[in-house]
Amino acid sequence: MTGPFLSLAQIHNRLVLTARQVLRQHQPGPDRRCPSCRTTGCPIADAARDVLHAARELQLWRTAPDSDDPPQPL
Ligand SMILES: [Zn+2]
Repeated sequence: MTGPFLSLAQIHNRLVLTARQVLRQHQPGPDRRCPSCRTTGCPIADAARDVLHAARELQLWRTAPDSDDPPQPL
């Protein structure tokens, strides 16, 4: 359920959870084919990986850096 009153952190977390769920559903089987799409190199799994990569780069939870240290990964 997505409500209109979610914080940025909640939206971020839901995006990450959804992307991880999609990756599980489109994880290649022993024949290296996606069980949902039946293709090798599933474009949906690629998109989910892109979402996770973008979510890590944004780091919305870190609003005020306290030092010059580089941001920490999730
Ligand atoms: Zn797929």
